[in-house]
Amino acid sequence: MIFTNKYPEAKENILYEYGNYMWSPKADNCYICGRLTHFIEVNVQAHICSEECDEKFYDEMFAAAAYESSIELEETDLIF
Ligand SMILES: [Zn+2]
Repeated sequence: MIFTNKYPEAKENILYEYGNYMWSPKADNCYICGRLTHFIEVNVQAHICSEECDEKFYDEMFAAAAYESSIELEETDLIF
């Protein structure tokens, strides 16, 4: 669900917090799909527009973290 529909009480010039999300007066393109949104993921300061994009965003973050730890493992293998 799009956050604008999920949180209809969010209003301009007032900052609300929704879990990891904050409503900002400044709209920008969603990091995942490019749709304009006022909602920002507070930990990484990225605009995310919906629950669906939120899921994809965290999938990408975990995939990147898993990739980095697999590189570390390979480097450890080389040492031994
Ligand atoms: Zn989106």
